[in-house]
This record gives sequence, structure tokens and C-alpha cells, in this order.
Amino acid sequence: MYRTISAIQDALRSGKSALDIVEEHLSAIAANQHLNAFLEVFEQTAKEQAIRVDEKIKNGTAGKLAGVIVGIKDNICYKGHKVSAASKILSGFESIYTATVLQRLLDEDAIVIGRLNCDEFAMGSSNENSAFGPVLNNWNNQYVPGGSSGGSAVAVAAQLCTVSLGSDTGGSVRQPASWTGTIGLKPTYGRLSRYGLIAYASSFDQIGFFTNDLKDNQLLLEITAGHDQYDATSSSVPVRNRSTFSDKLKIGILSECLTHPGLDQQIKDKLIQTLDHLKSAGHQIIEMSFPYLEYMVPAYYVLTTAEASSNLARFDGVHYGYRSSSAKGVEETYTKSRSEGFGLEVQRRIMTGTFVLSQGYYDAYYTKAQQVRRMLKDHTSNLLKSCDVLLMPTTPTTAFELNAVKDPIQMYLQDIFTVHANLTGNPAISIPFGVHSNGLPFGVQLMAQDLEEDLLFYASTKIQEIL
Ligand code: GLN
Repeated sequence: MYRTISAIQDALRSGKSALDIVEEHLSAIAANQHLNAFLEVFEQTAKEQAIRVDEKIKNGTAGKLAGVIVGIKDNICYKGHKVSAASKILSGFESIYTATVLQRLLDEDAIVIGRLNCDEFAMGSSNENSAFGPVLNNWNNQYVPGGSSGGSAVAVAAQLCTVSLGSDTGGSVRQPASWTGTIGLKPTYGRLSRYGLIAYASSFDQIGFFTNDLKDNQLLLEITAGHDQYDATSSSVPVRNRSTFSDKLKIGILSECLTHPGLDQQIKDKLIQTLDHLKSAGHQIIEMSFPYLEYMVPAYYVLTTAEASSNLARFDGVHYGYRSSSAKGVEETYTKSRSEGFGLEVQRRIMTGTFVLSQGYYDAYYTKAQQVRRMLKDHTSNLLKSCDVLLMPTTPTTAFELNAVKDPIQMYLQDIFTVHANLTGNPAISIPFGVHSNGLPFGVQLMAQDLEEDLLFYASTKIQEIL
């Protein structure tokens, strides 16, 4: 199959049509249905798009992504296609416009092959919260792929599409990338338009990319970044692609991450060994302290549930999708539709968010968490003044078995190393780092100063060289 964009381009050059490539992918998807990565395959529209792309290739007018097969997380809108956020509450709902990021890929002649399973409203770390069943990890079907963009990760890992879109509010691109051996980028907050991404926690949400190749990831960012009139938070600062980086990097490591008691011994050994290799290759390793690790997950869950409780108020049984058939009157339409339409984890988040915002508790929780967020941002910016990138594990462990983690707090702690970049808005990437003796992959994470994604890609290349 096709691991990378250049593999697609080679195939086109050697005489294959975009339609052939679509058909090969449709067969691969059908043969891998057991993974439950796709909620819907857009067979008809993908073929139609392929025929248009083949025409353009003939005319010499094809875009940079001609024939590239894209999968989209089921919280990204694609006009005329269903979107459900893997929730019952949106059943039957069809997008009436296309997300800006997706539109920019389509404008370069990408082909959208289908929508990908995820945790309901992107809330989860294992993809077990989908109303349509869990996604299975393609490395070992007894294991979860990570979440919430589990379908997006597995689809790229199993080569059911060339690249995919996910969303990352607290790690939902990087964590499943780590657990499926793929590359996952969370751009700087504001780098990409959120228009057409179903909101979970708006001040954290960012669309991100899964690829098998660093260059592909960088290309997707270049194509999709840029101001969008429909998202006031989107940045107009151009994506840089500097060629002036010094050959030797200053790599910051946070000692609290490295000595974290939850960190798997093999992941830790691999980190230490890699740091030694980086040092011998002439890079500078700077050990730093960041004694706030245990505030991250609590601050994240106070703030994101608060925002979610507001964002999800629109799903009321009237405006969108599902409406309870047994409800009588307005009040009951709201309460029954929401109780029947939302899954348990989403309900837990809405209730937590409503609680932290309620009069009497607001200052103790919401205001406090905002202060913590400010402090984390200031400290992180300071650390990044004395190094190029911060290097840390993406995840404390490899993937766990399906149904193995039942305690929600235990599940939330999976995000210990990833929520940092969402709290502070910094760009971060997870790249494949190794394979554990249990046969499962794990990633390593890099974080950079705001809008310095090009530095992330550069540093990732340097680490790949060492590996
Ligand atoms: N696991 C985190 C959560 O459930 C992150 C989710 C995400 O990034 N969308 O909130």
C-alpha cells in the first residue's frame, strides 16, 4: 500500500490513476473492518473526486495533494456528509459547510475517503468512549489505540489512508500517535482555523495531523495554516521553513518527567540512551526543573470541562440530531434527549464543568485553574528561552488492553505529559521512538516556542537520525 505522499506520487507517475488508488484503499478498508477505524466510508464522493483529480492530472493543473487519501476524524465537518462526534446525539446530522482546514486540503486535490471513529466529542484517551464501539490497535487487536483520535491513528498506521486529520485538546493526536507508531502533530494554538471542528474546549482545541512521514506532516501544515475569517483566533503569521537552524541543538529535558514514578522503565531507558547519543553527536542537553507536573491534569480537567459544559449546551434535542421520542414538553425534550443522547463520560464532563462554574465554586476552581494556566505558560516560555526544544515522553506507558482502565482518574492520568502543550498553547509533536518488549510502539514528544513548528520538524529529523 502507500505509506507516504511520495509513494502516492510515484504510483501516479508510473501510470496509476487516482481512481485506481481510491479503489485499492476501499479494498484495504473493507479487509480491515474489524479494526472499527471507519464510521463511514465515502465511497461515492471519493470516486467522484478521484475522477476529477485524474482529469486535472491530465491537464497538468493538479494540486500538491493530488491523489492523496485523507481520513477525517468524525468531529470535522465536510459539507453534505454526516458528522456525529461518535455520539448518538448527532444521529442523522449532516454538515452544512466544510471545515477550513479540510477545504484547504481539498483545494489541493486531496481525496477524502471517510470519517474516522473517535471518543465521543473527543473526550477520552483510549477510544473506548465512542457510541459506535472501540477502535482496535492494529499492532495487537487486544489493545486500545489511544484516544481520542484513535480511528485517525489506526487508519494511518494500517495504511488505510495516506494521512488523517485528528483533533488535540489534551493529547488526542500525540497520544494515539505514540501508541500506533505514527507521527502526530499538535500545532500551536491558533495556527490552524477551528472553523468546522466540533468544539470541545475552544481555548485548547486544535486540529492536528497523523502521517507516517515527517515531510508529509510539514506539508499539511504549510497547506492548511493561515488566517481564516471564520476563526478570530487563527494566526496570520506565515509558517516558516527556515534553513538556518544551527546543526547542534539545545535540547531541554524536564527532570520531573524523566523521574516520574508512572514512567515505564523501558521508555525511560530509551530516553536516557537517546540523550547520551544526542550528546555524543554534539547536541547540548540541558536538564531543567518544572515542578508543576501534578497540577497539569487537574487544571486541564477543570478548564476543559467548564468549556465543554458551555459548548455542548447547543445539543438540546431541538437544534441537532437526536430527540427523545418519549419526551413531553420543552423541559423534558431537553433533559431526556440529552440523557439518552450523550454517553456517560460526556455527561460526567458536563456535570463537572457545570459544577466548577457554579456560583460559590467558580473562584475556587475555575479562577484558580486559570491562574495555574497562566503560571504554566510563563514558566514554559522561560524554559524555552534557554533551549530550542523540550524533549519528553509522549505517554508514560504503551497502550493498555481493552477495558483494562476503569477508573476515570486513572484514564485522565494517561495525559500527564500531553496536556502541557494544550494548557500553554505551544506546538508539540510525537514521533515514533521504539518498540517495547511487549510488542507495542511508543513515541517521544518535542515541544517548541509558539509558532516554531519548523523547529519541531527539524529537531525531529535530528532525533530520527540518532534512532
Ligand atoms: N484525553 C483527553 C480528554 O479526554 C484529551 C482529549 C483530546 O485531546 N481531545 O480530555
